[in-house]
Amino acid sequence: MISGRDALRRLREGNARFASNVRGPDTIVSHTRRPELPTDQEPLAIILGCSDARVPAELVFDQGLGDLFVIRVAGNIVAPSLVGSVEFAASKFGTRLVVVLGHSKCGAVTATLDELQRPSENQSRNLRSIVDRIRPSVEGLLGTNLTHDREAIIEQAVRVNIRASANHLRHGSEVLEQLIREDGLLVVGAEYSLETGEVDFFDGAPA
Ligand SMILES: [Zn+2]
Repeated sequence: MISGRDALRRLREGNARFASNVRGPDTIVSHTRRPELPTDQEPLAIILGCSDARVPAELVFDQGLGDLFVIRVAGNIVAPSLVGSVEFAASKFGTRLVVVLGHSKCGAVTATLDELQRPSENQSRNLRSIVDRIRPSVEGLLGTNLTHDREAIIEQAVRVNIRASANHLRHGSEVLEQLIREDGLLVVGAEYSLETGEVDFFDGAPA
């Protein structure tokens, strides 16, 4: 099984290819592995990413069929079923890298800031459950001097939300805590730039 560090290196290399519009030979031929996949999978990383159509994990990391175990939800929030999905993959497949993948100009984060500044009465209960998960980490930004700079506050909010999700995975699950302590599981926070195509692993990544 590939270590967390080696998996991270492969994601960095894959993203560098993506950002420079190159596809790796392994990615291109990955569909030929299809016959061997029904009995087994050995994803090199678990990605908890945002559902945003512009941030598909397999593409931005230039990975192929069977390479990534991907969980996507608006705002890359962490709720019990999502923690359970990460626990499942880390325990069952031995995957040693988890990446929380947020992105610039995230609509779910922006909607949460809007809701905090101008609360609406008729927001759906289901949508509210997403906003409520983002709210605790971003509301502290509203009292700062960022309040009047919309772009800057969104930038900061995206990062604190990624950090909060990564921390939640690190400390909100006994299963994951044990894998981190005893088996070298790595939980890393990263931001994808819609502008450059580059992923910045800014939280918890070894140098
Ligand atoms: Zn998003």
